[in-house]
Amino acid sequence: MAKNPKYVYFFGSGKAEGKAEMKNLLGGKGANLAEMTNIGLPVPAGFTISTDVCTYYYGHGQTYPRSLKKEVEAALAKVEKAMGAKFGDPSNPLLVSVRSGARASMPGMMDTILNLGLNNKTVEGLIKKTKNERFVYDSYRRFVQMYGDVVLGLKPVHKDDIDPFEAIIEQKKKERGVHLDTDLTADDLKDLVGRFKTAVKERTGRDFPENPMDQMWGAVSSVFGSWMNERAIAYRRLYDIPEAWGTAVNIQSMVFGNMGEDSGTGVAFTRDAATGENVFYGEYLMNAQGEDVVAGTRTPLPISQLAKQDPKIYGQLDKIRKNLEKHYRDMMDVEFTIQQGTLYMLQCRVGKRTSFAEIKIAVDMVKEKLITDREALLRVQPDQLNQLLRPIFDLKEKELAVKGGRLLAKGLNAGPGAAAGRVVFNAHDAEEWGKRGEKVILTRIETSPEDIKGMNAAEGILTARGGMTSHAALVARQMGRVCVAGCSTLDIDYSTHVMKVAGQVIKEGDWISIDGTTGEVINGKVNTKPSEVLQVLIDKTMDPKDAPVFQTFDQIMKWADKYRRLKIRTNADQPDQSANAVAFGAQGIGLCRTEHMFFGEGKIGPMREMILADTVEERKAALAKLLPLQRKDFAGIFEVMNGRPVTIRTIDPPLHEFVPHEEKAQRELAAQIGISYEKVKQRVESLHEFNPMLGFRGCRLGIVYPESTEMQSRAVFEAAAEVKKRGIPVEPEVMIPLVGNVKELQHQAKIVRETAEAVMKEQKVKFPYLVGTMIEIPRGAVTADEIACVAEFFSFGTNDLTQTTLGISRDDSARFIAPYVDREIYSKDPFEVLDRTGVGAMMKIAVEKGRSSRPDIKLGICGEHGGEPSSIEFCHLLGLNYVSCSPFRVPIARLAAARAALLNDKPVTQGSSAGKAKKASGRKPARKR
Ligand code: ADP
Ligand code: MG
Ligand code: MG
Repeated sequence: MAKNPKYVYFFGSGKAEGKAEMKNLLGGKGANLAEMTNIGLPVPAGFTISTDVCTYYYGHGQTYPRSLKKEVEAALAKVEKAMGAKFGDPSNPLLVSVRSGARASMPGMMDTILNLGLNNKTVEGLIKKTKNERFVYDSYRRFVQMYGDVVLGLKPVHKDDIDPFEAIIEQKKKERGVHLDTDLTADDLKDLVGRFKTAVKERTGRDFPENPMDQMWGAVSSVFGSWMNERAIAYRRLYDIPEAWGTAVNIQSMVFGNMGEDSGTGVAFTRDAATGENVFYGEYLMNAQGEDVVAGTRTPLPISQLAKQDPKIYGQLDKIRKNLEKHYRDMMDVEFTIQQGTLYMLQCRVGKRTSFAEIKIAVDMVKEKLITDREALLRVQPDQLNQLLRPIFDLKEKELAVKGGRLLAKGLNAGPGAAAGRVVFNAHDAEEWGKRGEKVILTRIETSPEDIKGMNAAEGILTARGGMTSHAALVARQMGRVCVAGCSTLDIDYSTHVMKVAGQVIKEGDWISIDGTTGEVINGKVNTKPSEVLQVLIDKTMDPKDAPVFQTFDQIMKWADKYRRLKIRTNADQPDQSANAVAFGAQGIGLCRTEHMFFGEGKIGPMREMILADTVEERKAALAKLLPLQRKDFAGIFEVMNGRPVTIRTIDPPLHEFVPHEEKAQRELAAQIGISYEKVKQRVESLHEFNPMLGFRGCRLGIVYPESTEMQSRAVFEAAAEVKKRGIPVEPEVMIPLVGNVKELQHQAKIVRETAEAVMKEQKVKFPYLVGTMIEIPRGAVTADEIACVAEFFSFGTNDLTQTTLGISRDDSARFIAPYVDREIYSKDPFEVLDRTGVGAMMKIAVEKGRSSRPDIKLGICGEHGGEPSSIEFCHLLGLNYVSCSPFRVPIARLAAARAALLNDKPVTQGSSAGKAKKASGRKPARKR
């Protein structure tokens, strides 16, 4: 039989059995504690119980592997040796913390238990050893409280309910006539411990565990148990963390920040997590322990203050900051404790940051030669670019609001950007209101992990308590939400849904505006204006020189263009949309939906006439009215696109979409075109279809009404001729939709080509043009070799292709797609993220067959998936020539295409850069922020 697998990993005394690369096994916290130990940082000794044990635990009816107990005891002995104290020893007790730690940091997991190992005997030993009775009882009461809350389940389920232990503390303070915890004496604290234990007994019917080993195993089980609690499951779902990953448990000897004024605890980022600036950034509290810094009960000091208060410790920390960045080659987030003038590191991990900061740090680190441009691209998630494109407040309007006395408060600028919305006071309401399409600002005293869904649904988050590293701030930055935190003047009453601030009363549903870049909270709605990037590129109201955010954006885009192989086109039907897309870097139009033009001014009338026509002659007469209007639209687009390819699709949707269905509008239409209302009504009824998506649409329209295809082609080519004659190059591509049989395409292509030749002859001008088709129904895909004999290009219409391949109507899928995704039948909504296995296989067949009969066939995608990073990666893997997406997604697609190339292509040169790119890609799944 094989040897027992190793389940426990020791770290301490300058050497660890684990390392940073072992995150999967040791969790993020455990792996980095090991790594810090190995690079010589002062880490209190401890050990990590691996994630395999979590997997085992759930695979074996919540029991442990037999060898675990022995391994734990052996590791504990090593810790005892390293620390010169013994766990449970009445005269020289070792205390430990029990800390959860999954691969990715995860709210919802068990909270850390500190000071474990204390009981009525060890307490005495510790008092003797430290000669500090108050400190010991402070630690003891914290331990009983944490253990009672977390392991024994006394913590209230509802956030707004009061923690029984907090109630006891309040009662005690009242009896003693003091306000602060720090005013309580050793005797008070001792008394609290007794009352806490009584409360435990009352609520659970059991005595508080005295045996330190029982305490430890209780905490360990609680960590593993928390992996399956509701909050953890909800979080995993939101961030795609597989259940199979499991969590590790870290048991680490305690160091104490609550031993007096020369002790303390803090958290810091190696750079500013909001702006990305290269400055040391953090907060600390003296004479404090654990979560005091982030709990918001006392207001922490900025790390810069530590430089004055304790220059020696600050100097050490600053050196560690630089070492860590060099070692990890990233911005790090650290937790530290000072025990009587000695510094200890308790955690480090890659720091969460805003998208602003992510992009700036990536660009800066390339300049600092810490990372390569390839790595920079792999660090920025394409969707993060959204934050750079997001609106900011109109500064003039904000100034006016402030001058007008509407400034309500100022908090911490925890998540940049501007948001205006209606106040709601709990996460549930935020979710509900959000579903109704309301913009809301989630306003809380502080947030906690169960608020995530509501935070996600809100435009912005406002809290009364907590610092830059509070839960609200961290999560908001990760989600890219605007956030103002720690706004202490807000007086929020959850029960009446009202908040009082600056002498004003804000009720649920009232509008407020928050500026996450400055921390301002403003009464009422302040309008927003486009981001710096938009001001430079789209509005052209800003000089790139004065726009640092734009410059960083631009640098990333330049690097992306260097590595990507996919071209990026856009879906646009108007000249202004096309111009925006070009400004964002679009290299052509992949889909111009002609039918969108019909809703433009003056066009819907003749369009309806065409639809209602009885005879070919009538239809042609209506089409003749449309011709000049469409020609003008196309000319505008060709002009803007200036020689870039423009794919124009002939009319595609079912005709009923163009005609009115209400009596009043039908009567008006009848009057307009001079026919009877009954006739209109009857024609509209005749257009009714049971399955319009599978009905009279796409090329079927052009086959039954060839004059429509002829008119549209004529409009395209006459526009091309006109623009060409003005000296602007043109490259029209006419695309026939919904082809499933080559004969359909033959029929339509013939009309298009004859029209092109005729127009060139009439206009005495030549221009290149292509005729192609969309691949969007399975028969088209599987007969792509035949179709490619006629088509010069294919564009995958993956909205329809998903619908037809899956046999799921996208109009009717809402009811069951979410439950499907919940059950992981499809891991993502297939209309959002391309279903590679099914729809992707269909595409692959079409690509192979298409190329077999026309090797140089041009291939692209124009479905919604063309702007979605994972789908873009798939298109890259298929070897398509381009993806096409909406104008505002063009930058995202550029980056996604570059990342697809960097992650999947074999590097041309071997050596260090290739290895680094691979390393960076390897950790991609864990970097969800
Ligand atoms: P989280 O995952 O929520 O960050 P941690 O396990 O990091 O939880 O614990 C929270 C805090 O508890 C730490 O930042 C640190 O201040 C304190 N802490 C944890 N373990 C110890 C320890 N062994 N000694 C002193 N403080 C500790
Ligand atoms: Mg915590
Ligand atoms: Mg921590």
